[in-house]
Amino acid sequence: EETDAREVGLQVFNNFQMIHPEFTFVLDNDLKKPTITKIYRNHLEQVLIILLDNAVKYSRERKEVHMTMAKDQRHVQIVVQDFGEGISEENLAKIFDRFYRVDKARSRDKGGNGLGLAIARRLIEGYHGKLAVESVVNQGSVFRITLPLVTEPKETENKA
Ligand code: ATP
Repeated sequence: EETDAREVGLQVFNNFQMIHPEFTFVLDNDLKKPTITKIYRNHLEQVLIILLDNAVKYSRERKEVHMTMAKDQRHVQIVVQDFGEGISEENLAKIFDRFYRVDKARSRDKGGNGLGLAIARRLIEGYHGKLAVESVVNQGSVFRITLPLVTEPKETENKA
């Protein structure tokens, strides 16, 4: 269960670019080489698909989605940002609940049943990661995945 987050991120990003030519996808990738994290490849793929799919679904006039990939010493971060309808503070507390949808009537025609984010958070937390959100109504949303890196042992420690 070790996966190159850089490779999977690029692959899912490219797929969305192909599937949604009406959108502008902007990638800010700080990962210059393979970045190994402890998660099943399919699981990371699925989480990214859920977030990118939502970003597209809940965009309005501004059809633009940004993805950022970065890391620090211990974690990799993948951020998905849209400039769409956003989520009120009241609803932010509930969107990770199973079957919760902000506007049931209106979002029904967009497909979905309110399971995506619940699954995404559960998967990420299963690997000791975090899935966080910030959002402003009518301005857009930012979903931030943080996953622990598989760190290589330092040479000095090996020799000891
Ligand atoms: P699906 O199960 O197919 O993903 P869904 O999109 O309704 O359906 P979730 O992904 O769990 O389910 O999202 C829950 C609710 O959170 C959505 O119905 C929507 O109201 C809100 N939401 C999720 N992502 C965004 C976003 N990027 N912008 C605005 N609202 C969002």
